[in-house]
Amino acid sequence: MRYFPVHLDLKGHNVVVVGGGKIAEGKVRQLVEAQALVRVVSPDVTPWLAETISADIIQHTNQLFSTSDLDGARLVISATNDRQVNEQILAAARDRGIWCNAVDQPDLCDFITPAVIERGNLQIGVSSSGESPVLAQRVKREIEETIGDEYGRLLELSAAMRVRAKRIIPDFDTRRDILREFVESEALELIREGVDEKAQAIAERLLVPFEAKTVRSVEEALQWASDTFRDGLVMTSNFGAEGIVLIDHLVRVAPRTPIIFIDTGYQFSATNELKEKLRALYDLNIIEVRSRLSVEEQAEAYGEALYSRDPDLCCKMRKVEPLAEALRGKRAWLTALRRDSSPTRAALEPVEWNERYGLVKINPMYDWTRARVWDYIAKNKLPYNPLYDDGYESIGCEPCTRRVIDGEDERSGRWVGKAKLECGIHL
Ligand code: SF4
Repeated sequence: MRYFPVHLDLKGHNVVVVGGGKIAEGKVRQLVEAQALVRVVSPDVTPWLAETISADIIQHTNQLFSTSDLDGARLVISATNDRQVNEQILAAARDRGIWCNAVDQPDLCDFITPAVIERGNLQIGVSSSGESPVLAQRVKREIEETIGDEYGRLLELSAAMRVRAKRIIPDFDTRRDILREFVESEALELIREGVDEKAQAIAERLLVPFEAKTVRSVEEALQWASDTFRDGLVMTSNFGAEGIVLIDHLVRVAPRTPIIFIDTGYQFSATNELKEKLRALYDLNIIEVRSRLSVEEQAEAYGEALYSRDPDLCCKMRKVEPLAEALRGKRAWLTALRRDSSPTRAALEPVEWNERYGLVKINPMYDWTRARVWDYIAKNKLPYNPLYDDGYESIGCEPCTRRVIDGEDERSGRWVGKAKLECGIHL
């Protein structure tokens, strides 16, 4: 191989282009994109070059080339078709240790520029070592037909993933394996099919086990979630005690985070009153979601009190389906779940991949005890559902919730007499 391929970082470096015709313009366009400090040396310039000079994007020496034009330059590109001038430029450049390229005259070049295919930040250079630019153009065309814009998007996603991976995966080999797994996954195909969010979900799923290890406090988890997922982040809450604690933290980090409230039509009036109180207190961005059937329509279609005959179906229609709709297109879901609230939650992780909804589930309060929750509420004088003072421990829909008898598990008042511990949204 005759040439050593290299991609130069020209940002902020002086580059001189001698000539003001179409070829010079093409070179200047590329150099401006690379954020080089460009000076064009030529008495005549194309209209685009003239505009760019007027806009102070590039500088202009309005005269024929003289050796002093190269003072302070890192590179010079000679885009004149006058061989004598090009020889003079090359000699002056070499005297000053400046790299020189004369367009279409490889014998007057210290470096040559490849034909370039660009897909976002992905750059593919094709060079025939200056021997057949038309062959390089053909190869470029063939690559362009194979490598579409989806590669640029894959690069964007994998670059963002790499930034996150560097923060959470200290081991180089592990990090490289995770990044490789993403790049080799079906992500490219998904982007090509236009389901970008599914490609992004692959990255999230791969990073989740490592993210989980970095979460140390509620504040840290919320800050990370807000910075990482931005408007793709939502919280769900029915304003239970732990939910209020989480909201009290959230409003200090990302106060406009949407809080999804599933209005089943069967909540206690005390829950609805508390919701309005909290909305006013924190100026919450509460999104209320409902089943497509009202309580009356459900009774007409399935008979009265479906909750007592088939609570799974009732929960599915009134909770699970509306939530699935609300989470569609979101990247991360914040909950106030605690490990010690139920055996079904004992294995809860601070950050999990949720396969059902295809997003990251974040449980910053996973290791909080019930006592710690109430201690926080008392110390911070937070409002809470008055039903807690009336013997209720876990508050859901009125027909499916009863008071807890001393010594019982805190969720024992839900779906009493049924082999059911969860409504289904957290399964
Ligand atoms: S908790 Fe009861 S009333 Fe509420 S949706 Fe589930 S079964 Fe229906």
